[in-house]
Amino acid sequence: MSSYQLQCNLAGNQRNMENMVRAVDPDALFPAEGETDFKIDLTLIPDEAGLTCRGKLSGRQQAEVTFNDREITDPRYGTTAYEQRKKEMVRQGVLTLLVQGGNPQLPWGILTGVRPSKIYHYLRDLGFTAAEVRSKLETQFLLIPEKAQLLTEVGERQRPFFQRVGTTISIYIGIPFCPTKCNYCSFASYPLITHAHLVEPFLAALAYEIDEISEVLAQTGSSLATLYIGGGTPSILSASQLRSLLERIQQKLPLDRLLEYTVEAGRPDTLDREKLILMRAYGVSRISVNPQTVNPRTLQRIGREHSIAQFEATVRMVRDLKFPCLNMDMIVGLPGETEEDWDQTLQQLLAVQGENITLHTLAPKRAATWDFTRVKQEIAEERVASWLRVARAQLSANNYYPYYLYRQRRSVAGQENCGYTLPGWEGIYNIIMMEERSTVLGLGGGGMSKWFDPVQQWVSRTPNPKCPATYSGRIKELVAKKVSKLLTAVN
Ligand code: SF4
Repeated sequence: MSSYQLQCNLAGNQRNMENMVRAVDPDALFPAEGETDFKIDLTLIPDEAGLTCRGKLSGRQQAEVTFNDREITDPRYGTTAYEQRKKEMVRQGVLTLLVQGGNPQLPWGILTGVRPSKIYHYLRDLGFTAAEVRSKLETQFLLIPEKAQLLTEVGERQRPFFQRVGTTISIYIGIPFCPTKCNYCSFASYPLITHAHLVEPFLAALAYEIDEISEVLAQTGSSLATLYIGGGTPSILSASQLRSLLERIQQKLPLDRLLEYTVEAGRPDTLDREKLILMRAYGVSRISVNPQTVNPRTLQRIGREHSIAQFEATVRMVRDLKFPCLNMDMIVGLPGETEEDWDQTLQQLLAVQGENITLHTLAPKRAATWDFTRVKQEIAEERVASWLRVARAQLSANNYYPYYLYRQRRSVAGQENCGYTLPGWEGIYNIIMMEERSTVLGLGGGGMSKWFDPVQQWVSRTPNPKCPATYSGRIKELVAKKVSKLLTAVN
């Protein structure tokens, strides 16, 4: 572990600099005093022609840098953009120094956040062309050309959906139970073997939340744009529990203008024909069946108890029942897996010809069951970037294009998660969720409500508790707050 001392003449940039250093060196330490391995010193000088940054790296590595930004004087930018650019230049200075000091370039440059596409749309909204934004991504944000191209492609695919969705409301319903906990997982997920007694009280609380929210939606004449049941593993519910939930949704929620209805079934071992028939009958239009890998040894290792045969049988049933859209997720970078394994999984997904394929890059998280420091050496980190390039080419050759993406801290090799689709089958909820340009009400366990303010073009967030017992115990108070916020938002 290396220690860093960070200095900048502009106050309020310590966290900004630390985040940038951590993107390069995830285990970096920032002691308040004493000797450190590295010292980074930045000076930002505003003048009439724009901004100039001077930086110095000293200690175990040495580098110096000076660069200007004259582009910020473009009249399309306003005062907020000028302040924002100062922060970006600080990150640009830190990254440039660390790369000159011998660290590898980061694929996503100074875009350290979850949603790199937000900066893309921000610049497009200011009036820059796609080609201009792409160029800025490389020169100002230091993305490698391949990622600048990917982001441009994704951004352009998404823009028509902003108009289509407008400022409508979508709903996410979280079912926070799973058969077992996958070793890499950090989501709201409670294994049924230990938490089965919480399911019924949870469902009763969820029914109450749906009823109360639907009353407000009815009063205000609102219709839903998309509905997404995720988790956890929603298909863990018994057929009769699932029927009651789907029935309640159909009876109460305003689905008349719904563009998409997704159930994230997730684990193939929780699905059977009866549940699938129910989902189809209640109008589910998009279903996710996620193998993550088709290597049986890895499946066992990651704590997923389904077989490849179960995945194949489930996919056949989904196809037989003519669900309009099938999504399948896979994870790249699972311990013990090689390029051949990833390729075998991708080939199997391509053979199914599901409408959506989502490529996730493993992101070791502290909240996961696995101690990632123990399995680290088994992750073929150095191969991930090149294989993703190959996968992208194969998906493109099979008529899939990328339509949404996001990043996670600590993703293996600094890569991203990216959703691909056959033409016309974009998962609209995924775009809404990532780009945050309309309100999403989060119901159920771990449901995150995002309140979009069309004037400020900003979202604020209110989470539901992840723990099903806390959720059930606090349901009245949670719903009362949500109802009052919703009434303010729609009036
Ligand atoms: S099925 Fe999904 S939510 Fe459940 S434990 Fe596995 S990764 Fe987590």
